[in-house]
Amino acid sequence: MTQLDTRSVHAGRDDLTALGVHVPPIDLSTTYPLPDVDSGGTSYDALAQGNGPDGGSLVYQRLWNPTVARFESALAELEQTDGAVAFGSGMAALTACLLATVAAGKPHVVAVRPLYGGSDHLLSTGLLGTTVSWAGVTEIGTAIRPDTGLVIVETPANPTVELVDIAAVVRQAGDVPVLVDSTFATPVLQQPARHGASLVLHSATKYLGGHGDVMGGVVAAGVEWVGRLRQIRAVTGGLLHPLAAYELHRGLQTLPVRVRAQQASAAKVADWLTAQPAIEKVHYPGLSDPQELIGRQQSGPGAVLAFTLTGGYAAAAQVAASLRLITHAVSLGGVDTLIQHPAALTHRLVTPEAKPGEGLLRLSLGLEDLEDLTADLQQALNSLPQRAG
Ligand SMILES: *Cc1c(COP(=O)(O)O)cnc(C)c1O
Repeated sequence: MTQLDTRSVHAGRDDLTALGVHVPPIDLSTTYPLPDVDSGGTSYDALAQGNGPDGGSLVYQRLWNPTVARFESALAELEQTDGAVAFGSGMAALTACLLATVAAGKPHVVAVRPLYGGSDHLLSTGLLGTTVSWAGVTEIGTAIRPDTGLVIVETPANPTVELVDIAAVVRQAGDVPVLVDSTFATPVLQQPARHGASLVLHSATKYLGGHGDVMGGVVAAGVEWVGRLRQIRAVTGGLLHPLAAYELHRGLQTLPVRVRAQQASAAKVADWLTAQPAIEKVHYPGLSDPQELIGRQQSGPGAVLAFTLTGGYAAAAQVAASLRLITHAVSLGGVDTLIQHPAALTHRLVTPEAKPGEGLLRLSLGLEDLEDLTADLQQALNSLPQRAG
């Protein structure tokens, strides 16, 4: 097998030369001609049950789209899974996984906090018929019940970038499938399936797209889960648009280069922030990795960090509002540096006990010059009232 950088550039494109084109064609058809009534019905059955088209008609875009399928096969090659299923957003991807769990008659989920605020909220409200037990990483085994259908962890976790030992979670989960939200790591830094995860979820809106202009979600998994998730997608319609799929497929080509460059900046900014008196703590696995997961599970510390200001909410709000080059906005993983206040935004709906601190800001490093970034952070920190002593 070729190296990840090579696969990022070429995956999902094997047939292009034979087609006489250099970039993937975009297929926008919502419907497809049927050769005859019988074979149309056979194709419909196969696709609605989550199988591939196998040379038959594609029938209808909600059942199959070749541009989306290219992105899916490319992502699966990077994650080293049998396949992948793409959705209109990360939340639509998580929804499909939860619906599959409920449909299998095992609606109980064991989940480890912190999770992305939207995922936390979806589980806490039980909107899809799931129930949740929140467990510490060492309590997963005891939280599992006969009706547990899924264990959910996020690593690095949003927003405090704590790492979770995937193999240890999988061991505790036993027969229960483990879903890892790997959005922050991307397949460049970690491949959770190698450590036993059954489902690898990405908000493709973040690093995979990488330019803040496309929303999507994707789940990489083994063949059985892929079939189940395709079936749910066909019925519930949480589709990725083919134009979005094209952009995400293109995004994969530069993913390793972007992630490594952004990670290099994050490591330097983390060091720089550590030396600032207005900052109480910098959260970054490159500074503290007590379980020694960097190297073993994740090849590097990633390009997102968080920091807690000594001055609490007022200081965090002041810094967010004073930055000029760095944009104060939700989301992450794009080529431009973004900062946001998790307690007020992404984790607003999380229960008070589990909410991130009021003095915490999350920073997603982009591709700007490092000195320009630290200069902007410096002027924002300088705007804080000087503390006595
Ligand atoms: C953004 C995000 C999601 C949700 O994805 P959307 O594409 O916004 O629906 C899920 N998990 C993590 C870790 C995220 O950062």
